Amino acid sequence: MNINNLKSTCITFLAGCVFTVISSMSVRAQIAPGYEIAKWHQFKTAAISYTFDDNTAKQLTVAVPLFDKYNYKVTLNTVTGWSPNWTGLKAASINGHEIASHTVTHPALNTLSIAGQETELQQSQSMINTNIPNAKCLTTAYPNCILGDLTTIKKYYMAGRICSGAIVSSSPADFYNISSIMTGTQSAIKTAQDFNNKAILAKTSKGWCVFLTHGIDNDGGYSPTQSSELSSHLSYIDTNSEDYWVDTFGNVVKYIKERNALSLTETLYTTDSLLVVAADNLDNTIYNVPVTIRRSLPASWPNASVSLNNKIVSSAISVVGTKKYIVFDVVPDQGELVLTKSNEVVLGYNALKDFTPMHIGPNPFSEEIKVETNGVFRYYVHSLDGRLIENGTFTNTLVFGGCLIHGMYFLNIQNDKEFYQTKIIKS
Ligand SMILES: [Zn+2]
Repeated sequence: MNINNLKSTCITFLAGCVFTVISSMSVRAQIAPGYEIAKWHQFKTAAISYTFDDNTAKQLTVAVPLFDKYNYKVTLNTVTGWSPNWTGLKAASINGHEIASHTVTHPALNTLSIAGQETELQQSQSMINTNIPNAKCLTTAYPNCILGDLTTIKKYYMAGRICSGAIVSSSPADFYNISSIMTGTQSAIKTAQDFNNKAILAKTSKGWCVFLTHGIDNDGGYSPTQSSELSSHLSYIDTNSEDYWVDTFGNVVKYIKERNALSLTETLYTTDSLLVVAADNLDNTIYNVPVTIRRSLPASWPNASVSLNNKIVSSAISVVGTKKYIVFDVVPDQGELVLTKSNEVVLGYNALKDFTPMHIGPNPFSEEIKVETNGVFRYYVHSLDGRLIENGTFTNTLVFGGCLIHGMYFLNIQNDKEFYQTKIIKS
């Protein structure tokens, strides 16, 4: 590296790193230059939550397994006075599903005295916390979607669900009036396509779609939803998983609040590393879900790694247009993250999806492997420890691999706009 390069590198760092909190009164969180916080986890376009009310018989036995197939987590709004299957709910909670409140006896809250509402809201929560000790009950769904006394609700819950049929904004004005969309025979959402259309609507508005389901198939619950339709819909969401973040009602609430309260402060550590602190003013015993952030990679860094308290944090490289980012998750208030310059090749978030049409194969290959695409592109083959093995510039077609010894490699292909990484194996 010559002196000029070194200088320009330092200037780049300083420009990106000097950061001052202008006003502690500001309501907007302070974000160091170069950083972006994902609207939704992993920079997905929209969020989806699936909520199930009234502990109907087939929710745990039929519906939840459909979600477990994709590792999607749901919310089970439990009426504690209606003999819940605590063993099943506890197993679901340990598996990451949310066990939330739907009161003790399912009354319309606004028909009760404040004291009566308090009993319903407090006792359902404490009953859930007693039976599900591994998690905290933090959200509620109002019976019949009728709001009660806000002051009382706020004493116990961080959010509450109604069912006005709207897609929720990515920054809701009122966490105690979060809309949901009812499904099943008594609603407009019956088929997989109906579900898919609402998901697409959420994608269009970059919002949050909350479904509210009661009965499953013939389990006797209100407005039954056919499990076959739900299954087919989930397959669609999985196919389009680049667009959709699926998580519990409670986790999405936490994500939004953390994202909007997060401040990112960066300091230069050495020329090859940066320190960043992610902090918020929220209660860490509640607001503990990871928020996805990305930082543009300094120009002189081929790559980077992230660590927290000397442990590696998983990260990935993402390329948007001509900008290269390192993307990672952070739970606020956990200490200083260290971003370190690295020559290792990291698998990208960018899948083949948005790339100019391209085919790579066969993979694994025994003799040679072929890349077919449109236009001029550069290719780089790295060993797993980051050594550049071969590279070059080609148009439309490339056949290579004859010189490689057996083993696994990283293949990078890029043109002026796009960047793609994959592993290739010479068998
Ligand atoms: Zn209900």
